[in-house]
Amino acid sequence: MPIATTNPATGQVLKTYEAMSDEQIDAAIERADLAFRQLRGTTIAQRARWLLAAADLLDAERDETARLMTTEMGKTYAAAKAEVTKCATACRFYAGNAPRMLADEPADAAAVKAKRAYVRYQPIGPVLAVMPWNFPLWQVMRFAAPVLVAGNTGLLKHASNVPQTALYLEDLFRRAGFPEGAFTTLLVGSDAVDRILSDPRVRAATLTGSEPAGRSIAQIAGREIKKTVLELGGSDPFVVMPSADLDTAAEVATTARCQNNGQSCIAAKRFIVHTDVFDAFAEKFAARMAALRVGDPMDDGTDVGPLASERGRDEVHAQVTDAVDQGATVLCGGEKPAGDGWYYPPTVVTDLRPEMRMWAEEVFGPVAGLYRVGSYDEAIEVANGTSFGLGSNAWTNDPAEQERFAVDLDAGNVFVNGMTTSYPELPFGGVKNSGYGRELSAAGMREFCNTKTVWIG
Ligand code: NAP
Repeated sequence: MPIATTNPATGQVLKTYEAMSDEQIDAAIERADLAFRQLRGTTIAQRARWLLAAADLLDAERDETARLMTTEMGKTYAAAKAEVTKCATACRFYAGNAPRMLADEPADAAAVKAKRAYVRYQPIGPVLAVMPWNFPLWQVMRFAAPVLVAGNTGLLKHASNVPQTALYLEDLFRRAGFPEGAFTTLLVGSDAVDRILSDPRVRAATLTGSEPAGRSIAQIAGREIKKTVLELGGSDPFVVMPSADLDTAAEVATTARCQNNGQSCIAAKRFIVHTDVFDAFAEKFAARMAALRVGDPMDDGTDVGPLASERGRDEVHAQVTDAVDQGATVLCGGEKPAGDGWYYPPTVVTDLRPEMRMWAEEVFGPVAGLYRVGSYDEAIEVANGTSFGLGSNAWTNDPAEQERFAVDLDAGNVFVNGMTTSYPELPFGGVKNSGYGRELSAAGMREFCNTKTVWIG
């Protein structure tokens, strides 16, 4: 993919970049390594102050930064502004909580025959982050804030279609006070990842992206014996049971499917509805989906902007067409609009069968699949019946059923009667082909720490 800003609302290429040369990559890794030596000599309190400064800059620059993201990948301006604010919140969360999360943890010295024993969390060095375009600021921030406050340094290989947001991030951390080289944006294509991750100075990698990218990075890291965290795709179930509040469920379902123009890993994608309430839910949901306003993402009245790329839109439409050709029913949407920009209408498809692509594939656009089930057990079977296991939603007001869903849904998180969301306070990640490892909370920070046992006799 060329490294370029192309406005998805118009298809116009606005700015292109040359990929960095091998020498430039080498020099950047060297600076990251030197900065690591410097950073690990600083206190947590100092690094927390730099994070707080980054939070203040984010707040002050919210509108311009949001405009940049909307121009590069098409999310609505309102959603982009909320994303900037969320990043500032995460910086403040890690600044405030790092001292507690990174504090030494005393162990029972007598039990291990020591005078003193404890666990210490130490940084490991430069960490490579390979990131996607869909939340171009947030995906990076949830890696960068914990990694930097822990004393590691960050090397960012961002998606090729968001180079200006990537460069903004490097500039942000520099202006916040972090030393030169603490956070570096590498303008490179995915073909450079092997070389970067193979470099002995780079100690670990985190990827948020697709399954093929995950396999590739895990292979390289396996060869090099380096730690990885993989946040991959998802096809989250959204189960609606008879006791659910159907109006609220339909309202949240619409947001959960169409947030970020339908391009979120934790968007609800498969709506699995008990037959007793199927028709009522389908009607409410399809009506809300059809009422969403599709249009210019800079316009305040727009709910759904364009998809980020033409290729992405073609893929979504191919998945819908495949289902329709095999007998699925479209309740709303399903037509690719003519004209400029990579728009796609909110779409609801039902009468799905396992042989259709939509049954189990991730659909990365505002397209919902509706599945009718006759019992709790069938709901769980369909919900768990994909290779993914990222997020999940269940709607029920039966307390016993709520507990059962929490146990039985095979996913990295279960949200009951609410939308799946990432919070700095809670771990985030998946099981099965959605990846492994966790971001956010203390669990996320410690993924890139040496959990060192200290035993003093
Ligand atoms: P993608 O193609 O995998 O791209 C993500 C990043 O990986 C980009 O920086 C890309 O670089 C790079 N990349 C692609 N192929 C690579 C390879 N073989 N080796 C090394 N790097 C490679 O993903 P996408 O289609 O843009 O993003 C959507 C996917 O990300 C969806 O599946 C979505 O569910 C997933 N996602 C997951 C999470 C999560 O937290 N689990 C969050 C957001 C998105 P280039 O841009 O240069 O190709």
